[in-house]
Amino acid sequence: SRRSTSAGKNGLRCYSSDPKNGAYKDFSNLPLSDPTKQGLKSSHFAVMTDIQAKAIPLALKGHDILGAAKTGSGKTLAFLIPVLENLYRLQHIGMDAGLGALIISPTRELAIQIFDVLRTLGRHGHMFAAGLVIGGKSLDSERQALTRMNILVGTPGRILQHMSQTVAFNVDDLKMLVLDEADRILDMGFQKDVDAIIEYLPKERQTLLFSATQSRKLSDLARLSLQDPEYVSVHAED
Ligand code: ADP
Ligand code: MG
Repeated sequence: SRRSTSAGKNGLRCYSSDPKNGAYKDFSNLPLSDPTKQGLKSSHFAVMTDIQAKAIPLALKGHDILGAAKTGSGKTLAFLIPVLENLYRLQHIGMDAGLGALIISPTRELAIQIFDVLRTLGRHGHMFAAGLVIGGKSLDSERQALTRMNILVGTPGRILQHMSQTVAFNVDDLKMLVLDEADRILDMGFQKDVDAIIEYLPKERQTLLFSATQSRKLSDLARLSLQDPEYVSVHAED
């Protein structure tokens, strides 16, 4: 059911709260594919969080994003929805399409969480193949799966290991890179790994970088990975 935002007598929809943020925030107002709409509906997500409302429309238009918002603000959907939608529009789907999106997360636990949200969101009609690369299994068994994936979620060390050792792992057609919890990626000492991964990737791509905090090192990573980004941040006082 639709959130009751004031729709004027003349039928014009009024933006309710903060006009500066254009706060009409139902997911139903986004130009999303039916599979994604179904996925959101079945997860009972109806209204976007602030970071989602700011980042998703820009990311759907293809912009690079530097997004900052505290833990718990909903950053996962802020990048997963654009990943799904942009690959869907490009029809970057199926065994022969190759890797379309790479999502890098600092820890195995966070990578698994992202993967679970992706699975839930994608299970109503999306046809992409997604995989998790976090170690724990043999390189060989990950290797097998890797070559067929359209979307990969993984930790920096393991992804880099495959990039340097798995010959059939082709990233030449990659369309999107996501760096999630980028501040933690750097705090955990993965800067060199991430720099090396970026070296392997096509320059022509969309990059979404999300972080809970901002720092000098983060600006360096942003400079290295993003092109003409949109800065999107949500502060506690917003
Ligand atoms: P972050 O990565 O910013 O720490 P998450 O993406 O993990 O935040 O989301 C935090 C929680 O909020 C999760 O339980 C998620 O299911 C929930 N959530 C995210 N977006 C929405 C939304 N639009 N409506 C309701 N709940 C949401
Ligand atoms: Mg998160």
